[in-house]
Formats: sequence, structure tokens, C-alpha cells
Amino acid sequence: MAVRTSSFVTEIPLITTSKDMAVLAARLEAGRQLYNAVLSEGKSKLQLVRDSELYQQAKSISKTNKKERLVAFQKAREAYRFSDYDLQAFANTTAIASVWIKSHLDANTIQKIATRAFKALDRMAFGKAKKVRFKQKGQFTSLEGKTNKQGIRWTGNAVEWSKLKLPGIITNDPVLLHGLSSKIKYVRLVLRILNQKTYWFAQLVCEGEPYQKPKNIFGDGTVGIDLGVSTIAIVGDEEAIWTPFAVELGSKQKEIRKLQRKMDRQCRANNPDNFNSNGTVKKGSKRWHKSNRYKKTAVKKREIERKQAAHRKSLHGKLVNQTLALGKNIKTEKVSVKAWQKNYGKSIGFKSPASFQSELKRKAESAGGTVLMFSTRKTALSQTCLCGNKQKKSLSQRVHHCSVCNLRMQRDILSAYLSRHVDPKTETLSIQSARDGWLGMEKSLLHGWRNGSNQFPRTKASPKSPAVGGTEEMCSNLIAREESEPFRVNETRVVS
Ligand SMILES: [Zn+2]
Repeated sequence: MAVRTSSFVTEIPLITTSKDMAVLAARLEAGRQLYNAVLSEGKSKLQLVRDSELYQQAKSISKTNKKERLVAFQKAREAYRFSDYDLQAFANTTAIASVWIKSHLDANTIQKIATRAFKALDRMAFGKAKKVRFKQKGQFTSLEGKTNKQGIRWTGNAVEWSKLKLPGIITNDPVLLHGLSSKIKYVRLVLRILNQKTYWFAQLVCEGEPYQKPKNIFGDGTVGIDLGVSTIAIVGDEEAIWTPFAVELGSKQKEIRKLQRKMDRQCRANNPDNFNSNGTVKKGSKRWHKSNRYKKTAVKKREIERKQAAHRKSLHGKLVNQTLALGKNIKTEKVSVKAWQKNYGKSIGFKSPASFQSELKRKAESAGGTVLMFSTRKTALSQTCLCGNKQKKSLSQRVHHCSVCNLRMQRDILSAYLSRHVDPKTETLSIQSARDGWLGMEKSLLHGWRNGSNQFPRTKASPKSPAVGGTEEMCSNLIAREESEPFRVNETRVVS
């Protein structure tokens, strides 16, 4: 027997004329009839085997004596010529006897049809299938070759099979190209009916492993990040991303808290003696009774929490990859969860900004990048303007609009931009460096602002994204175009 190697299938749609289709249909029908003939022959042979003395003897051997039992069964099969080889021989004779079948199928395809019938019978013999089925019209939808040298074969850009040539539709899909560059073991032709139309496909059974997506390739640039409660701004050398931060998790959090309140009520109802009249828990040792309903609620809550954690991990992972695609040298403020909670309440912890940061650090460093996390207090980026002016902003003020130099920029994006210019040694902002870089970057920052604002829900108070027109306008304009804030993120949505 040939050595088994791993294989994978590459599927290619074929271009077929109506004439090709007619030829294929006739060959398929010849294949179907041959299959049924072989199956019928094999079925009666298998019955003979089962009725035989040898088979009964084999059956009487203890199942613990595996090897002996198997040899005995094999003997019974041999006695009545029930084997792949014998069915192939039968198929050949049948084909020779029928001019019609022989004119439609080549030797390799005939052998594979016999093998297919044998395998079906073999599955039934070993109890893996209840019965074998004869193929009705329309149920036999594929034919395959044995090697890529004879019969049905792929010749680089088309399937060729005794006078038929069916070109494949080849795209630049890397999965397809990987298959085409691999060694082909044999080719299968498959008919499929999609939307009541008939299509033919070539399935190249290739040697080796299927296509693997290349790992993320990380850029070498510097990336500044501003991580906020509801948004994250990521500014690389040539691109700025401003996008919601894990807002999708909010709805699950609502469900979790609802269940938490339910558990609390159930707990109190089950253990009235453990609580004071004002609702607080009594001091001292107590026994807690947990009802089945309480346990049920707890299980439900845990399940949602598990899902939330998985979702969070995938959201974080996506953002980490987006960030590293811009560059693997990261500069960002240390997120203070305490400060977050002070401003937005404890509930915000479910977004796990710290675990996002540590994942980013881990991945960037393992890719050979650097990570600088500086303290917010030293830099105060959110209050700083390019001109050096420092202005305190309230949390709801989402646009930086300097009263001295008139600079306007979305606040998170500006912070992320400034992060890029924090000196790693002193951990302070180098205003000069930030000013020098500004002109080259403003266009992509504005782009990020505009793209980002399309992702946020808008309120009546914040109907507009920055009115950025042509490139010229974006590059030249450091001055406000509108008096009102172009866009305001609705922070309270997340907390509520
Ligand atoms: Zn300014």
C-alpha cells in the first residue's frame, strides 16, 4: 500500500459550454450505472461471505483475540473474492462488456468508482453504516481520477479528460494559489446545483498542508495611544484610528447586573435571619442557605460572564493587532483604573483597559518593539496644546479648541498624537518635537477624526463630523471651521 500523506482540497470553478455540460452529464450517468452495478455485485458477494462457514467461525472467536478474529474474517472475504481489488476487476469487465460505459469512462475513473462502492460496503460490513444505497439519478454527482497523469487531470489552468478541456476560473486568492503550487495527487470533478443552475468544479486533492494565513506583520513605526473609557485613539506615522473602546460589552454588563440584583434578592429571601432591619449583613458567623433558584441564577450569570470575557478578549485582540499594524513602538499613558472609576463609577472595570494594555505590551515586545507607559500626572497631555498653552477641560468636552492659537482637534486623537512625542528618558512631552511633526500629520489625524465619528452614535447635539472637504482644505486649515463642536461623544451612554 502506498504511504499515506496528508492532503487538502483546493476547489476551482470551471468554465463549461453547453456542449461540455452534455458530455459531462453523459459521463456522470455512465459512472452512476457502473457504480450501481458494482455495488450490486459487491452486496451479493458480501452476503455470501456472511452466510459462509468461515464467517461463522470467525464470529465465534472471542473479541479479545482481535488479531486472530481479523485474520479469520479476512479468510472468509478472500474465499468469496470480496475485496477492493476484485470489485475493480469486476468493474473493468463490466465496462468492457458495455460499449457505452467504456466510451465514456477511462480506466482510472472506472477503478475509483469500484473503490467507492467497495468502501461503502466495507463501512456497512463493519457496522459503520446501516445499509448501502443505490444511486438514483441526480444522486451521483462526482467523478474522480486516480493520479494526475492519466484520466481526469489538472494541467495548470484547466481540467483535461479525454477530449474535454475545461478552463478553471483562477483568481489571486492566496488559498487558491497555494493549492495550485502544491503537488496534485488526483482531481475530482463535482457537479453542484446552485440557484437551479448547474456548475462544475474541479477539486484538486493536493499533497501537504492547507494554506495558513500569514501572521500579522507589524510595522516599525511609533504609535501613540490615548485610551479612554469609551474611545481609543491610535496615531501611527501615517495613520490615525479613532474608534469605540469595547462598547459592545455594555449590553452584557447590563444583563449581568440584572442577574446580580436578582441573586441579591434571592439571597435575602432565603436568609432573612442574616440581615439587620436596615438591610446590612449581620456580624458574626452565619450559615447561608442557597436555594435551587439562587443556584440557577448564579449559573446563568457565570455563563454570561464567561461569554463577556471571551468577547472582551477578542475585541482587545483585534485592537492590539490594529495598533501593531501601525507600528510596534508604543507610547501611551498608564491607565489608572482608579481614576476611571472615580470619574465613571466602578462599573467600568468590565472593559479591562489594563488587560488590553498588558496584552499590547506583551505582543509588541515579543515582536521586538518597545513600550513606554508614562504617568498621566507628569505629562497632562489632555490639557496641553501644541502652542504650549495648558487648558483644563471637562470630561464632556471632546474637542480641543485652543483659545490661544485656535488649534482644533478631537481631544483623544490630539492626546495620542502628543504621546508620540513623549521623551522616554524624562517621560515628559517634547513640545518642539510635536510641533515639528504636526504639519506632516494633520491630514491623517483629520482623516481619523472623520472616519471615527462615523462609528459613534450621534445625538441631536452632535450631528456633524468634522466638515472635511478636499485634501487641500484639510492640509491648510489649522483654524476652526465651525463655531460649535463638530462632534461630541456621548460618554454617559456607556455608564448607564
Ligand atoms: Zn494652542
